[in-house]
Amino acid sequence: MNKPKVGFFDFACCEGCQLQVANMGESLLDLLGVVDLVEFREVMSEKWDGHYDIVFIEGSITDSHAEERVKKIRSRSKILVAYGSCAAIGGVNGMKNSFNLDEIRKYVYGRDYRFFPSSKTKAVHQVVKVDYKIYGCPVYTPEFIEVVKNILRGLPYDAPDKPVCSECKLNENECLYEKGLVCLGPWTRAGCNAWCVNNGNICYGCRGMLSNPALNAAKDIIAKYNLDASLMKNKFDMYNKCREKEDNGE
Ligand code: SF4
Ligand code: SF4
Ligand code: SF4
Repeated sequence: MNKPKVGFFDFACCEGCQLQVANMGESLLDLLGVVDLVEFREVMSEKWDGHYDIVFIEGSITDSHAEERVKKIRSRSKILVAYGSCAAIGGVNGMKNSFNLDEIRKYVYGRDYRFFPSSKTKAVHQVVKVDYKIYGCPVYTPEFIEVVKNILRGLPYDAPDKPVCSECKLNENECLYEKGLVCLGPWTRAGCNAWCVNNGNICYGCRGMLSNPALNAAKDIIAKYNLDASLMKNKFDMYNKCREKEDNGE
């Protein structure tokens, strides 16, 4: 039986999700046993000019060249996976959407900024059809493997639409609000097994907001712990600016 041809591609991102895949160790060897990896810039120099069965897209779409490129990749692929928060929700690159584009270009590129095109950040599904999304900054390896298994079996995958707190509680962590910290777990999509909190950190909301976040609970928490609501919003903006664009119907 022919193994599925698989390609990995990156757009605007830090490439941390590729590294996460490249560092999977034995699981990577298992994966390579069942797929034919034909393109993955970070780990091999070969290129593929045929059709792909599965492509993994990392990074968000931030200019017209990137839009054109991802559309071409889509047209050559049966299944497209947006992996990592940059690709799946726009992620940190979405912070650009809060500012005037020309001002940002001047700041980054200096006086020759007009030679460097830029547009509002988009998640991959805001440009092309996406068949699977894997959230996280970076992706959580056990979930990545689960999604790959589902793809290979022809099954769908939906990340849990419940808060990180649900996993955090099962891990018996002491809630960080009780320690005077601000954690975005109550409104952030689970699926990472509360990775950061297990390791003594807050949840930064990297997997994006739940489809139906408990806004009243947010108000209660802000009141109970005497928090600054604008600080909470800033924290959410780190990963969720592209969602705002969607919510506004843009
Ligand atoms: S999701 Fe995070 S780790 Fe992955 S490429 Fe984007 S910034 Fe890097
Ligand atoms: S530490 Fe964060 S994720 Fe855990 S229960 Fe508290 S708010 Fe939720
Ligand atoms: S705990 Fe929060 S910030 Fe950390 S990986 Fe999970 S969703 Fe992302």
